[in-house]
Amino acid sequence: MINYENERGRMVDEQIAGRGVKDERVLAAMRKVPRHEFLPEALRTVAYGDHALPIGEGQTISQPYMVALMTELLELTGRERVLEIGTGSGYQSAVLAQLCEKVYTVERVKSLAALARTVLDKLGYRNVAIKTFDGTYGWSEMAPFDAIMVTAGAPDIPKPLVDQLKPGGRMVIPVGERFSQTLLKVVKTPEGTVTEKSIPCVFVPLVGAHGWKE
Ligand code: SAH
Repeated sequence: MINYENERGRMVDEQIAGRGVKDERVLAAMRKVPRHEFLPEALRTVAYGDHALPIGEGQTISQPYMVALMTELLELTGRERVLEIGTGSGYQSAVLAQLCEKVYTVERVKSLAALARTVLDKLGYRNVAIKTFDGTYGWSEMAPFDAIMVTAGAPDIPKPLVDQLKPGGRMVIPVGERFSQTLLKVVKTPEGTVTEKSIPCVFVPLVGAHGWKE
């Protein structure tokens, strides 16, 4: 029997804190959320390894370090309403749900959204709303958001997402080529947006009206 809690502790110490993520709330959330529950049975034993993993439909659950880094960049305090684009397994949504008031997450593949809903319900995450839709349009009925996280790689920053961010709000998004990107942190100010580069990364493509074509 694998002791998943021990595995998670080691994941946080070695892969996440060990690489410079400092936000204690983020580290605590990563210690708590059972990543293995978001994976197909056959992959659970390697859930806490230092890599992304397949979740079906050609999609992936991000590497633990990437989940933690992107979450830290949003600077959450607990009171925020956060939009996530690319629900996938629902793992990142669960991490966000520990750290803010409410998560709105959008997934274009219906079967993934349905599975994520089942897992999040089973684990008791009540502050996550999921919609099946093209997330490059954002979720206008629920806007504006304090923070936005895009977990698929975009050719450019989709304008609807900037529009749906509150002044002072933060967005993290991988932008670049179809199979390699740079993680960007975009801060919305009264004068416009300020963009900072974080690290190189590889995400599955963000497919949609304001993303890549099919
Ligand atoms: N955050 C996820 C990672 C998912 S991978 C996790 O923790 O598991 C990226 C996801 O983005 C995929 O599930 C893919 O289907 C989805 N996606 C791609 N383009 C999208 C779009 N335009 N709108 C919503 N979801 C999209």
